[in-house]
Amino acid sequence: LMGQMMQMPLLISSLIRHAARHAADTEIVSKRVEGDMHRTTWGEVELRSRQLAQAFARLGCEAGDRIGTLAWNGYRHVEIYYGSSGSQLVCHTINPRLFPEQIVWIANDAEDKVLCFDLTFLPLVEKIAVQLTTVKHFVLMTDRAHMPASTAIPSLLCYEDLVAAEDGRYTWPTFDENTASSICYTSGTTGNPKGAVYSHRSSVLHAYGAALPDAMDCSASDVVLPVVPMFHVNAWGLPYSAALVGCKLVFPGPHLDGKSVYELFESEKVTFSAGVPTVWLGLLTHMKNNKLKFSTFKRTVIGGSACPPAMMKAFQEEHGVEVIHAWGMTELSPLGTLSKLKAKHKDLPHEAQQRLLEKQGRVIYGIDMAIIDDDGKSLPWDGQAAGNLVVRGSWVIDRYFGKPESPLVTVDGEPGWFPTGDVATIDADGFMQITDRSKDVIKSGGEWISSIDLENIAMAHPAVHEAAAIAAKHPKWDERPLLVVMRKPGQNVTREELLAFFEGRIAKWQIPDDVVFVDEIPHTATGKIQKLKLREQFKNHVLP
Ligand code: ADP
Repeated sequence: LMGQMMQMPLLISSLIRHAARHAADTEIVSKRVEGDMHRTTWGEVELRSRQLAQAFARLGCEAGDRIGTLAWNGYRHVEIYYGSSGSQLVCHTINPRLFPEQIVWIANDAEDKVLCFDLTFLPLVEKIAVQLTTVKHFVLMTDRAHMPASTAIPSLLCYEDLVAAEDGRYTWPTFDENTASSICYTSGTTGNPKGAVYSHRSSVLHAYGAALPDAMDCSASDVVLPVVPMFHVNAWGLPYSAALVGCKLVFPGPHLDGKSVYELFESEKVTFSAGVPTVWLGLLTHMKNNKLKFSTFKRTVIGGSACPPAMMKAFQEEHGVEVIHAWGMTELSPLGTLSKLKAKHKDLPHEAQQRLLEKQGRVIYGIDMAIIDDDGKSLPWDGQAAGNLVVRGSWVIDRYFGKPESPLVTVDGEPGWFPTGDVATIDADGFMQITDRSKDVIKSGGEWISSIDLENIAMAHPAVHEAAAIAAKHPKWDERPLLVVMRKPGQNVTREELLAFFEGRIAKWQIPDDVVFVDEIPHTATGKIQKLKLREQFKNHVLP
């Protein structure tokens, strides 16, 4: 017997249609590149997304064509998300923090037909335009008044003119839910970046999963400010989940310094946010220096790299903000796990609860995970055994864009698992904890030392701004941990003091052999510590 229910394809246009119908007057507030604050609503954004879909068609775009973006978080970027995907085009967000050569490589690999970009990136696009071999139309995301008098870009189009020229009499088309909706590239810390092509189905399911209470817990009563950029795995799906629940959105544009973010949180009564640890460092420092408190901010998702327990503590104890630690990756759209307690943990002592919340957490329904050894045999969920983390699920990639070979591996003889490149433990309650990226693991005399554990301890020292643990060559043990530290301004903690701080906090043999101080720790375009660069920099470091 077959089920006898309607077939409603899971299309991204259904999200914005829902928001326009049920949250038409709910606001979308953006701090614009032009410098002012802009206020619109889901109703208006849906109309303008339809006008944009018409404009893309008028430019000659056809189903499957890629629309590239180089843009900050803002309402126009949301309109491009929906106007492109909704009309069967493919939204391709490009990370503007990458090197220009990488941007060119990515746009050409994706064969972008249109490139939409913010005013900030006009000089960049002027430089690279001739190398973008597939781009037919360049669209500057601004109004007529802000268009440059002259530019090296041939027939540069004005976003607001394109929208204004259309009447919006457009019906969102219906098509196969497995159609491509968007492409994101991994930041390519090893080799060239690789494209993950999401489908309408995978994106809508991810939006559903992400909004669940044990995930981001978004609702119509929230005011959401995605600090995570819309060019970093679709701002972790927030522009989709926000439409699904119909909540107010607040966008910081390019203004991501602690002061600007804090002021926006307060003026717009933000309740929920999400971002990588490095951006929160700036906000917490600004608040501490100016003795500031939040009045409405309740909870934040932190992920992308390990959230140091000290940061979690600062949010919780100094500001009453709940931190939800999350793990994910581009290949997972990106959410995989989030750390929320179960009912059985409610009576645990505070410290034991913290230990759980510091882990990367439990999977959302829709994602399945396992840890395996090098032979593909699964390891026990005892919170001790560490292995290669593999996943499968409705919003996990099956293959990379344009790559015929399958990245998938076999677990206990069963094919179809995606190897994440992360090393993790999983406990009996299903809480996963990342100990390392497999290439960052420090192998000392055959034993693994978790670089994340070492960094978390260092970050808990009051004089440390940021810390990275890397493997340094050792004649006897092969590798030993070296701690690279950026001190807080005005602090002069010594190597000996820092090493003493590790005693009692970790097994003696795992304590770093040495500490070096640097003025700055290098980060990737998505805010992760560039371990590769540090390993290169300290490859000749002689341990004491
Ligand atoms: P990239 O393009 O660098 O892979 P992603 O944003 O896709 O960019 O990065 C995914 C990786 O980030 C994961 O495989 C993992 O190593 C790391 N990561 C993400 N979240 C966490 C977390 N909460 N703790 C530790 N590592 C994390």
